[in-house]
Amino acid sequence: MGSGLSGHAGGLLIDTDLRSALDRVAALSPLLVASDYDGVLSPIVPDPAAAVPDQAALAALRRLGELPATHAVAVSGRSLAALTSFVGETDEITLVGTHGAEESGLEVSGDLRNRVRELQSTLGAVARQHPGAAVEEKPIGAAFHYRHVTRPAEAAAAARAVAEASGARTISGKMVVECLFGDANKGDAIRRFVGRLSAAATVYLGDDTTDEDAFAVLGEADVGIKVGYGDTRAAYTVAGQPDVAGVLEYLLERRTS
Ligand SMILES: [Mg+2]
Repeated sequence: MGSGLSGHAGGLLIDTDLRSALDRVAALSPLLVASDYDGVLSPIVPDPAAAVPDQAALAALRRLGELPATHAVAVSGRSLAALTSFVGETDEITLVGTHGAEESGLEVSGDLRNRVRELQSTLGAVARQHPGAAVEEKPIGAAFHYRHVTRPAEAAAAARAVAEASGARTISGKMVVECLFGDANKGDAIRRFVGRLSAAATVYLGDDTTDEDAFAVLGEADVGIKVGYGDTRAAYTVAGQPDVAGVLEYLLERRTS
């Protein structure tokens, strides 16, 4: 690795530019520290239902959330119920599910509930045509997972066609098509927290295409960190999920010193 990298207490490597950015925001209050869950606070695993948290990363985020004038948030495309089952009930971290649509209870009208149910059952039929596919039900739609199918492009196209026909919006992620009614996205969720907290700065970590909405709302004072390489609007990148705990621990160390 190049000369632009320096070690830190955790033994992992953080780019010197990212270190300087974290040094700077560590001194700002109120500070919003927000992170995606899958692939960031949890390693990507073959079975999406088994996405157990990276305990070191989660512990660092929780400890940040305990600090004064510091607000910790985990934002996920998963339902709030699923996210809560992975992270556990917590006062230190605010959990936000379904791309920002679920935070403090979601009002779902009877009409929408019927459309959601119909979409979920149609996607279930698509999944049966593509063995290995799975439908994750959400309050305002569903996620169609196709990591294990033999014809992934065809399965994804079929799921998108079904969603579009039902009037749902689709978001393509890593081997998943999110099919949602309404227009919640992670960027709106972050903007809402920034406004509510009057945050002086935001740190956001994400690994997937849906996190680009969050990176897009960040300003000059903020620190967007893409986890893994690939096109991104984030100003900083770390190589992969194993680096996340080091980043959060570094921020924690700077904010408490
Ligand atoms: Mg993710």
